[in-house]
Amino acid sequence: MDHCFPRDLAAERQVMDDLKHFCCLNKNCPKHGVRGEENIRIRARYGPDNTRLLYCLVCKKKFSERRGTIFFDSRLPQTTVVSIIEHVVEGNGMRKTGRLLKVDSDTVSRYTKLAGRHAEKLHDELVAFSPKHPRSSIRREVGLRAKKAGTVRRGESG
Ligand SMILES: [Zn+2]
Repeated sequence: MDHCFPRDLAAERQVMDDLKHFCCLNKNCPKHGVRGEENIRIRARYGPDNTRLLYCLVCKKKFSERRGTIFFDSRLPQTTVVSIIEHVVEGNGMRKTGRLLKVDSDTVSRYTKLAGRHAEKLHDELVAFSPKHPRSSIRREVGLRAKKAGTVRRGESG
């Protein structure tokens, strides 16, 4: 009797918990911006990162899980974007981060600024995309680093 359902149930629970990080992005939807409810479902997957196409049960609108995040329209793999933010949060300069990850330091700078702009939501996103992140202090640190990135000097020895 009990041999077939526990694993499936656990997997389903995990997906539902993950989807609680997302909210409907349709401004006309009563659930717009509301996280933690169960109105978001997975419609399909696409692209090299298996990006999920989500949809809202309330308004039926579809949107990418990346939309409204620093990952949307990113040409870098999601893991590289997360690594950039990790390095910057750890205190590495733009150039050093660029060297370590083999991306242009201008790219590092651009993502750091983007992260600052999205700082309100970034914490939840990093938790969603990168479970190894601790839940504390990322938002604050990225916000601070992003301010620094705005005033980064040429010739920084990073
Ligand atoms: Zn909706």
